[in-house]
Amino acid sequence: MSAAAQVAVTPVLVLMSGQLTLVAIPANLLAGPAVAPATILGFVAALVAPFWPQAAQWLVIPAGYAVGWIIMVAQWAVGVPLATLPWPGGLPGLGLLLIAVAVAIPVLRHRAWRTVALTMAGVALVVVLVVRPVAKPWPPPNWLMVVCDVGQGDGIVLAAGPGRGIVVDTGPDPVVMDRCLRRLDVRDVPLLLLTHPHADHVDGLPGVLKNRHVGAVIVSPQRVAPQESSRIATILARYRIPEWTPPSGSRWQLGPSEVTILAPDPSQGKAGGQGEGSLINNASVVAHVRWRAGSALLSGDIETEAQDELLRRLAPRADVLKVPHHGSRRLDPAFFASVGARAALISVGADNDYGHPAPSTIALLQRLGARVYRTDQSGDLAVIEQDGRLAVVARGP
Ligand SMILES: [Zn+2]
Repeated sequence: MSAAAQVAVTPVLVLMSGQLTLVAIPANLLAGPAVAPATILGFVAALVAPFWPQAAQWLVIPAGYAVGWIIMVAQWAVGVPLATLPWPGGLPGLGLLLIAVAVAIPVLRHRAWRTVALTMAGVALVVVLVVRPVAKPWPPPNWLMVVCDVGQGDGIVLAAGPGRGIVVDTGPDPVVMDRCLRRLDVRDVPLLLLTHPHADHVDGLPGVLKNRHVGAVIVSPQRVAPQESSRIATILARYRIPEWTPPSGSRWQLGPSEVTILAPDPSQGKAGGQGEGSLINNASVVAHVRWRAGSALLSGDIETEAQDELLRRLAPRADVLKVPHHGSRRLDPAFFASVGARAALISVGADNDYGHPAPSTIALLQRLGARVYRTDQSGDLAVIEQDGRLAVVARGP
């Protein structure tokens, strides 16, 4: 009877709340048997209590169990994921519901169709109850940094206040980068760092500029790679966004993130390295980020020579290391040891042609006590504050 009553009041509830309650019928069926004992025992206890309080005390114990059962069912029903469907309120919602019922009645009268409909409903229920709870909400609340899963490349976002993010590299694909920023609800980018002008770090730039305001862009010294740098400069000029190479030590506080530029140091002259690719990698902009609960080192694609230079000049330490150059094997173990990170985040594409990350690099990081996270295996990676310390949460592939 309670199920029938639920069906009867559903149009009124839709009209009032603009929600279609899906668990109301099973919840009513479960709670139903407890309603009568709870009501009758409670009523009798209230009548008896004035002249025989002891009997009333005995009567309210089973009544209490019955009420407890009803509350438990209600709490379960509220907790079921997708317990309510967003449904247009008012008369349009009521009209839509009537159409749905008009379609459902002839379908459910037909035996074969009824079986199909029940099977589909059963599968949907299993998906909602079993699969959905596994999916975590994204982003985790109070995220501080997210390494977007951009495939082979880097695309990183630092929290800079509500709706704002500092972007460090843009990955190779504008669509992928735009999607990651939209998931994080970043509409305003006060600061954009392009660590170096390689495609896997800058070709997603149009995705960041899409429907977003970008304040200023920091780039590595243009003289290192004039051709690639001029390509970025052309895009930025079109949007009238200034670009510059700030000196090492430049610092900004934006929202919860304090960003300090550590490299390249202009006074050091041209960065070393074999071949043009390594020269450009070694001129990467390196940034140190400090939050209330800890710090991170964003090291672009610097290779052995620039790691060594940074170690000698500043020896930066950090709780989280964005592993340089997608975990390439061209590394300086002393630099990794000196950073002393507890978590090592590797932004890398599955089955890439470069052999990134190198097994030897992963082994070294683990030997140094860092927990290794990879975007190719775990999808987007978020750094959050948990109990006053930094923690890493994966979105899942
Ligand atoms: Zn790269």
